Amino acid sequence: MTTYVHAFEEGSKEQKYLLGGKGANLAEMTNLGLPVPPGFTITTDACKAYMAAGDRLPGGLMDEVAARRAELEEKMGKRLGDADDPLLVSVRSGAAFSMPGMMDTVLNLGLNDVSVGGLARQTGNERFAFDSYRRFVQMFGKVVLDVDGDLFEDALHAKREERGVATDPELGADDLRELVEAFKAIVKAEAGIEFPQDPDEQLRHAIEAVFKSWNGDRARLYRDHEGIPHDLGTAVNVQSMVFGNKGDDSGTGVAFTRDPATGENVRYGDFLSNAQGEDVVAGIRVTEPLSAMGQHFPESHRGLLEVMDLLERHYRDMCDIEFTIEQGKLFILQTRVGKRTAAAALRMATEMVDEGLIDRREAVLRIQPAQLDQLLHPQFDPAASYDALAKGLNASPGAAVGQVYFTADDAEAHHEAGEKVILVRPETSPDDLHGMIAAEGILTSRGGLVSHAAVVARGMGTPAICGAEAVRIDMESRSFRVGDTVVAEGDVISINGTTGEVVLGAVPVVVPEPTGPFGTLLEWADELRRLGVRTNADLPADARKARDFGAEGIGLCRTEHMFLGDRLPIVQRMILAETPDEEEAALAELHDRQRQDFVEIFEAMDGLPVTIRLLDPPLHEFLPDIEELLVAKALGRLDAQGEKLLAAAQVWREANPMFGTRGCRLAIVRPGLYQMQAKAIIEAAIDRRRAGGDPRVEIMIPLAVTRAELGYLVDEVHRVAEETFAEAGDRFEYLVGTMVETPRAALVAGEIAEVAQFFSFGTNDLTQMTYGFSRDDVEGRFMPRYLELGLLAANPFETLDTEGVGQLVRMGVEHGRATRPDLKLGICGEHGGDPASVEFCHRAGLDYVSCSPFRVPLARLAAAHAALGESGPAASA
Ligand code: PEP
Ligand code: MG
Repeated sequence: MTTYVHAFEEGSKEQKYLLGGKGANLAEMTNLGLPVPPGFTITTDACKAYMAAGDRLPGGLMDEVAARRAELEEKMGKRLGDADDPLLVSVRSGAAFSMPGMMDTVLNLGLNDVSVGGLARQTGNERFAFDSYRRFVQMFGKVVLDVDGDLFEDALHAKREERGVATDPELGADDLRELVEAFKAIVKAEAGIEFPQDPDEQLRHAIEAVFKSWNGDRARLYRDHEGIPHDLGTAVNVQSMVFGNKGDDSGTGVAFTRDPATGENVRYGDFLSNAQGEDVVAGIRVTEPLSAMGQHFPESHRGLLEVMDLLERHYRDMCDIEFTIEQGKLFILQTRVGKRTAAAALRMATEMVDEGLIDRREAVLRIQPAQLDQLLHPQFDPAASYDALAKGLNASPGAAVGQVYFTADDAEAHHEAGEKVILVRPETSPDDLHGMIAAEGILTSRGGLVSHAAVVARGMGTPAICGAEAVRIDMESRSFRVGDTVVAEGDVISINGTTGEVVLGAVPVVVPEPTGPFGTLLEWADELRRLGVRTNADLPADARKARDFGAEGIGLCRTEHMFLGDRLPIVQRMILAETPDEEEAALAELHDRQRQDFVEIFEAMDGLPVTIRLLDPPLHEFLPDIEELLVAKALGRLDAQGEKLLAAAQVWREANPMFGTRGCRLAIVRPGLYQMQAKAIIEAAIDRRRAGGDPRVEIMIPLAVTRAELGYLVDEVHRVAEETFAEAGDRFEYLVGTMVETPRAALVAGEIAEVAQFFSFGTNDLTQMTYGFSRDDVEGRFMPRYLELGLLAANPFETLDTEGVGQLVRMGVEHGRATRPDLKLGICGEHGGDPASVEFCHRAGLDYVSCSPFRVPLARLAAAHAALGESGPAASA
């Protein structure tokens, strides 16, 4: 028979899939002898069984719970619901992956009309007892019985008004006793049942509510966003309560063994005297720093520091710890490996290697490639001058500019309408998640660095400022005020989550140059990876940027971008040419420009391979839109040149241009094009050699599908190169290869390799043609619906479809190498910068991936992870 319930003593930190992260760590700490309030964990298996049975508790579960509860009562010397000295428990969710605030919690369970009296007598504090009871009824009503939470808040508000006080602590015991009755009446009216008095019944309801919350909307949304599987289920932790709100000798807080924002090796945390844990996280009261705790509670402070050191050494990582002091005694309520910004993650990982806590391999594995994105986030341009309107806490790094909206729904709607949005809220709750996802940045007027807004924003890599108290939000008029300045809905502000500055209007932003631990960690990644990383770059500036980011060459230089702008008229002259002489003259002009383009690219990538792709798109892309020309003609506004362009556009018009006269097929019918490009490339390399440079030339022919057509064009390139060498009196080694971007090319890769010295998998076109999905259309059409319904696991244009497209890649690799063992193999589709796809490329045996400059660091790290045999989602608890 399955055992669904385990006492804390029975588990360990390795069991996070069974006990959830929280349960596994509670077990670990219990076994380390730390002061953890006793309790037990109901496994994720029980949740899965509950879901599988159509939301019914598995048979025998409540018997097991009853047995564990009896053990707990024995251990504590108290019983749930007892009239004299009642035990109270918390019931909390805890999944394998942390989902802050996304699921439900019930505190103070075990209180009822009788035991509240026992609690009052035991603590000698009637106010405390009734406050605990009213919190319980409120939470239970809202979370378990689905009663609208505002009804309780309204009643609380009414009571404060009646008493003429501003805050809850000013309400007395009698007020709270009356509130309990009012809350119970709300429950009766709304849920149609008497508030349950039997602790068994309370417990059963609460456990079920936690299981149900696993599939709540906000939990599902969070998991979709974070890539956490929906079938893991949540565990439930039932733990004896300790109270940080029992008076001035009590308190509660959150501590981090290192600074989660910067990674600095200093202890860090927030603390509140005479408060419950939710008060810290909700950001309702202003917290004190951890250091201040030493003055009020020297002994507990010392104890906490010892626990922090022990946990960090034990977990060999930064720990995030929740603690409570109950009447002078310290309790540890929870720990986990703490969330951190990307900058902090890098600093901690590299410093922990220096401290001997972990090795380089582990340091590299601790950083997820996507996290590096955060560091490449925009920042305010240091050269920009601006006045800060207000300053808050620097809760999540990066700069954002956008229009202000005050509710999550508005933020989402305006984001969908194409606006850049800053979500401004007094504080956020899990209900705001959709607005937070939609926003470029988040600003709250309340809350600290561990408030919901801060934690969630950091996790998402969204810039955020919290606790900007000067920002006075008026929800009625949908505006905020700082001093005399009023900022209305839709106005533009800029926020700098790195410094906490809020600025009226748009501040120019720049992307920073990462240094320090960033470089160190990537150097370690380089030592561990096998896969090369190149970049896709068409401009010298991009090539230089990519090189700074560690690119080892260019995997794809798309020459069509060099045919636009001021070159377009020349290209059009070439297309419109009526005589060979005219065509030649236009090509000669293009040649001169191209030669200079290539010189600059070779210079930027001196000593590193540069794959230049000969012209790929169909010619009509260089002509005006045919519909516009026809309209102009109908209106009699077409001049002679326009008439020519229209005629050409009609000649080159194709029903399926992506499958039409493009790439090597165009080169076969307009041979002058590739000849011109090949000559410009070879000459540019010779120019560089004469200037003392070291150009490494790879010429790539796109879209080949047969050995014959490719062989024909490769011969042409060699012929031109030989002529050019002879003219220049210089020669050098270079490669000619092709893109594998059609299914046929992959199928006959063995033959194609006879004439190609390298393959670069063009997985954009390969995906398009394998699926028969138009790469330019489907993402705006059916793709979102497919993803929503789970009909596709991921967008195949983003993450390589290893099952289908991947088979073609593998086939291309295998057959290509069988023909030519030293065939160079790379990938240059967008997938080259996607961590999961990089992993596939490693396994498929490619030599390198090529991606956009900003993704080069991600690809380097992903390649190291692949080499270390690591894949799948981040394993942070
Ligand atoms: C590809 O098809 O994957 C590719 C890199 O070429 P392009 O995106 O230019 O078609
Ligand atoms: Mg392509």
